[in-house]
Amino acid sequence: MTKITPQPGIMEIALYQGGAAHVDGVTDVVKLSSNENPFGPSPKVADALRIAGVDLHRYPGTDHAGLRRAIADVHGLDADNIICGVGSDEVLQFIAQSFAGPGDEVIYTEHGFSMYPILAHAVGATPVKVDETDRTVDVDKILAACTDKTRIVFIANPANPTGTMIPMEDCKRLAEGLPAKAILVLDGAYAEFVDDYDGGAGMVESRDNVIMTRTFSKIYGLGGLRVGWGYAPKEIIDVLNRVRQPFNLNNLQLQAAEAALRDRAYLDKCRTENARMRAWLIEALAGHGVDCDPSYTNFILARFQDAAEANAADAHLKSQGLIVRKVAGYGLPNALRITVGDEPSCRRVAHAIGQFITQHR
Ligand code: PMP
Repeated sequence: MTKITPQPGIMEIALYQGGAAHVDGVTDVVKLSSNENPFGPSPKVADALRIAGVDLHRYPGTDHAGLRRAIADVHGLDADNIICGVGSDEVLQFIAQSFAGPGDEVIYTEHGFSMYPILAHAVGATPVKVDETDRTVDVDKILAACTDKTRIVFIANPANPTGTMIPMEDCKRLAEGLPAKAILVLDGAYAEFVDDYDGGAGMVESRDNVIMTRTFSKIYGLGGLRVGWGYAPKEIIDVLNRVRQPFNLNNLQLQAAEAALRDRAYLDKCRTENARMRAWLIEALAGHGVDCDPSYTNFILARFQDAAEANAADAHLKSQGLIVRKVAGYGLPNALRITVGDEPSCRRVAHAIGQFITQHR
């Protein structure tokens, strides 16, 4: 019998723990564990899907020209510096495949997004975890951890699952201080939730070692569609396109993402409502003695007294049909990550946590 021998590093990968969408025995369930937009996508997406559905016998274009042009128009960018992928996860994968391999190091941070070490292992590189300070990316610690083997530094700004953010000056200092062969990836999955923030696009334009990634999964309410994009110097885009499958995005993805992108009024409404309910939820939890860091995203990180209390709170929320995310796997055993839902969901969460604290402390 053949002995299965995966490539080095593959068996180091922990299988991704996705959030369940149901609770046994509970009917009125709200999923607040995956940072989805509670209002769903723009209504214009349904029309775009219907129209795109007529031409499903045709292969999609290979260069995503229409979607890249729309992204460029809306964000004031150059379409030639954009690449699109199956979620921003795929763009992050192109980056790992293109720039790291056996013997190389890939830096991510203590509470960083779980895909970063997975991607490093998948290409045979060594993931290097760097401490944060107060649940926030610490540029000096990253710079101190860099070696001549460092090829990629992944940070999300704002970050998941902490919701914290570092100033653009720190990102610039990080990019300037990196070793010659290293690339800084600024993951902007939550950038749209921050007012007056370009996600690092300006930095991409002024440097040759920075890539920004973005997604349609969060504020655009299209996690189920799987579309993301990257913005980088042309030399880097040329490299990434060589590992991209020509038909990675289908006709439905291309048309629906473009429709969502062009509905700026809907986006603004979602951003405003998220900010309103996020502030409400943080204040409500503080009133129950549960602290959160200021969040720049569409989720909050609720901190309990210890891991036992966080686990008990999670179980209580689940019994009420409220699914939130445990983040012990991100080095945060005392905390729960809670997506900012619509107003009724936020009220239910706050009420259930209040109930739990009253019973538990
Ligand atoms: N980066 C961060 C920081 C995320 O939180 C996520 C989604 N959880 C992603 C990237 C990937 O998102 P997607 O592949 O849906 O674009």
